[in-house]
Amino acid sequence: MQRSLNKVTQTGDTSYFAVNSLVSVLTDQPLDRLLDYKAPVGGVFQGAFVEVPLGPRKVIGVVWGMGQGGYDLAKTRAISRVLDLPPMRAEMRQFLTRVADYTLTPLSAILRLATRAPGLADPPSMRKVYALGDAEPDRATEARTRVLDILQGHNGLRFTKKELADIAGVTGPVVDGLVKLGAVLEVETPRDIPYLKLDPMMAGLSLSDSQKAGSEALRASIATQKYSTTLLKGVTGSGKTEVYLEAVAECLAQGRQALVLLPEIALTVAFLDRVEKRFGARPAEWHSGVTMTERRRCWRMVGQGNAQLVVGARSALFLPFQNLGLIVVDEEHDTSYKQEEGVFYSARDMAVLRASINGASVVLASATPSLETWVNADTGKYKRVDLEGRFGAAELPDMKAIDLRAEDMEAQSWISPTLVHEVEKRFERNEQSLLFLNRRGYAPVTVCRACGYQVACDDCDARMVEHRFHGQLICHQCGETKPVPTTCPNCDVEGRMTAVGPGVERLEEEAKRRFPDARVAVLSSDMAMTARVLKERIHAIASGEADIIIGTQMVAKGHNFPLLTCVGVIDADLGLQGGDLRAAERTFQLIRQVAGRAGRAEKRGIAYIQTHQPEHPVMQAILRGEEEAFWQAEADQRRIAEVPPYGRLVGIILSGPDLKVVFDVASYLSRNAQGLQKLGAEVFGPAPAPVARVRGRHRVRLLVKAAKGTHIQPALAAWRKAVKLPRDVRMQIDIDPQSFY
Ligand code: ADP
Ligand code: ZN
Repeated sequence: MQRSLNKVTQTGDTSYFAVNSLVSVLTDQPLDRLLDYKAPVGGVFQGAFVEVPLGPRKVIGVVWGMGQGGYDLAKTRAISRVLDLPPMRAEMRQFLTRVADYTLTPLSAILRLATRAPGLADPPSMRKVYALGDAEPDRATEARTRVLDILQGHNGLRFTKKELADIAGVTGPVVDGLVKLGAVLEVETPRDIPYLKLDPMMAGLSLSDSQKAGSEALRASIATQKYSTTLLKGVTGSGKTEVYLEAVAECLAQGRQALVLLPEIALTVAFLDRVEKRFGARPAEWHSGVTMTERRRCWRMVGQGNAQLVVGARSALFLPFQNLGLIVVDEEHDTSYKQEEGVFYSARDMAVLRASINGASVVLASATPSLETWVNADTGKYKRVDLEGRFGAAELPDMKAIDLRAEDMEAQSWISPTLVHEVEKRFERNEQSLLFLNRRGYAPVTVCRACGYQVACDDCDARMVEHRFHGQLICHQCGETKPVPTTCPNCDVEGRMTAVGPGVERLEEEAKRRFPDARVAVLSSDMAMTARVLKERIHAIASGEADIIIGTQMVAKGHNFPLLTCVGVIDADLGLQGGDLRAAERTFQLIRQVAGRAGRAEKRGIAYIQTHQPEHPVMQAILRGEEEAFWQAEADQRRIAEVPPYGRLVGIILSGPDLKVVFDVASYLSRNAQGLQKLGAEVFGPAPAPVARVRGRHRVRLLVKAAKGTHIQPALAAWRKAVKLPRDVRMQIDIDPQSFY
């Protein structure tokens, strides 16, 4: 054949490899290199998903390119089989390579992110479904009639036997009987069925002028089919979601796929409803709450182009889109977009990367953007669309500080007399109040009043947090639990163990005591609820089933509480104490987001901020509602300090069971960083990490600081390679770290 003479055929940027030619395969196994195999009978395309022998096992991989050779050809094994999946596209291979290079992670680990669906190596599994047949049953029993009525009533729809029997209220054999008679047809179909078509031409809501201008700007960007990133900024309730759904409509109308990333599963349920209203059907879902079957379906359908819109968590970025035109990152400032285990990556930044490779648009939506994004919009690197005010009458609430130094605080209580008074007023008017405290559990510290001992985790440098709801002490670092002791483990004195400080559960106790007639509801992420139950609960609260809502950070994210007119931030100083780079930014974002919960309908809201330092510049900016001034000031400070976004940071975390060994390795690294210094980078540390021990491993940090735009990864890689780590010491590199714990 012609082809075997010319073993590699180029078709665009995808090559074809004829049988027995040498190809390199990237497997999902933890090996830091590509492996050579022979192409199987029939040849194989670059990007094909394949199964290859590795030792005694068979593993999944992707044909990455031409083989490297240098190994005995006779001993090189052949690809076992080519999987029945669309080949990975060239732009996806490029994306994975760039993510691996940027995050300094082995490519195989990135491939694992891109293949996280069960049963990819299995042939598409089939199932039987049932539809209306032509024949009339000889004898029409009541049960049979019900089955046929249902099939008739849902013309064209197919059901599994169980669905059909359940809806008709009959047993399976009734359906079997009808199949035998030909009155019902039994059909084999692939188990993973395409998602229902979304209709981008359906009319949306009629938009305000500001929304119209915004959505036209976004539509225009998408129409070019070229890369662009736009910051969509507007206070909570200004109608951002409505506007970016217009962008989704434009993208779908072009026949391209869209992805919407949300920071929290609890938000997806409400979002699915909105998509259904807007486009007539629900999108595909991808997050940890989705069943394995749905995961597989989503992965396969996205890859076949049979899912137009995916809503999901950060890892949805690695789905095999065939024609991605738009990525929306909602609440783009949210810290949950940064993955800080396994592969350290920022989904927001990688979304921008993926879009730039694909010629797609990115929309970063937020009321309180990250400083990085704000600066990128300020310098014109990103476009910016501002939505004015709130949709409808509601405005951003007034903000007032409650100076805790001037309040007469009772012992063991955290709601100041002023705030108590304000909440009472709302209660009498049948309006809701929200008390916000960003601390889960009952009390952060359990101390013995006889000897002063504080209960700490055995494996971590952390105090155990009491959770009365679970009846336990829990370590927030590693999840370890202990019973709440009645006798001090240190001095054996009984009955002196005391809970110190508040968590939301304790705040609930105080609220019930102070407002005995009010209905108090707690919303906290550790209440072990499914997304659906959580949504129902939020819905019930929003429709008035509670007078006082007590919540952690979770309530700050996008939920609507129309009856809420009063927000009390219990401890606004909590966020400012962290002392890390982003403490001011985080506090600013969080308090504004929480305050944004108040007065969402026609009633005006007010937010009370309890603080010991009302004169702090961050507090002042919040109180005066001067957000542009806050960002400008924050940006100026960072520019002077040459820290992100005006400089680049890399966090190095070394950990191991023996502190001295870990420290020695860190010191060695710090002394031998000439390659980095040549680039003008500085290395700080080693220093014990703020959380100095987790799961029995001591943690030591180094910090690398370089000028913005320094291509630092190759030097970091060489630096890492030059040191041979003791077996039980682990080194994690965190490019653009978000947290410094
Ligand atoms: P954001 O995403 O900025 O918080 P949303 O898009 O969720 O704002 O809008 C807030 C509320 O206002 C939602 O209940 C939404 O349905 C409603 N809304 C927004 N735009 C319109 C519009 N043009 N017409 C009617 N209702 C709207
Ligand atoms: Zn622990």
